[in-house]
Amino acid sequence: MGAIAKAMQDVRQRIAAAVATAQRAPDSVRLLAVSKTFPAAAVIEAHQAGQTAFGESYVQEAVAKIAEVSAALGAHTALEWHFIGPIQSNKTRPIAEQFDWVHSVDRLKIAERLAAARPAGRPPLNVCLQVNIGDEASKGGVAPDEAIALAHRIAALPGLWLRGLMAIPRPTTDVAEQRAQFRQLRELFDRARAEGLALDTLSMGMSDDLEAAIMEGSTLVRVGSAIFGARAKKTTEGKT
Ligand SMILES: *Cc1c(COP(=O)(O)O)cnc(C)c1O
Repeated sequence: MGAIAKAMQDVRQRIAAAVATAQRAPDSVRLLAVSKTFPAAAVIEAHQAGQTAFGESYVQEAVAKIAEVSAALGAHTALEWHFIGPIQSNKTRPIAEQFDWVHSVDRLKIAERLAAARPAGRPPLNVCLQVNIGDEASKGGVAPDEAIALAHRIAALPGLWLRGLMAIPRPTTDVAEQRAQFRQLRELFDRARAEGLALDTLSMGMSDDLEAAIMEGSTLVRVGSAIFGARAKKTTEGKT
């Protein structure tokens, strides 16, 4: 078994163990493999190990990789591509054209541009609203107290299907603090649903904190380094 296949097996076991501890249904948490900075060959290896959903953060890199993977696997093999990085308004068109999901929508203008650029004949673009639960000035995400109002406006846009909420919490090794942050997003999710928004996706948890996220109700964990290995720092794209 290759390194990626072995790592995928380990991550799936971690998810299964956390789901069991949380006494949740076995299929209640999806795994998104975050392949940013890794080559098409790594995506293909993960796909051969049964993975179909992949996350990318940099538009140019992703567009090239999607083309390369599609050419290698053939048109009959449809992977699901999720955009999870910061969105510049001049990059909304390739995102709306090439991706199935976007997790990092945090303002109306971006949602409107994605909706307008979604090609007719494609299913609606699945969208999560990114919420800044850690309250860090440097991170993307709408403020928690503005999230539900924004969610209502995004849910009304044609071409998009608002599926849920996403957060990247403040990094910490303190599991209680990890859980407290994830709980904040979960409570917002519950409130949005109580207000009539038909959300089904709580995108939270990464390589180092997926257990805490699953304990707090995550339905989709975004896992990169635990599958593909350590990433080199990426500094060139997204700064213009
Ligand atoms: C890179 C990234 C991940 C994956 O992080 P790991 O710690 O490598 O698992 C998850 N979510 C987002 C938004 C990311 O940018």
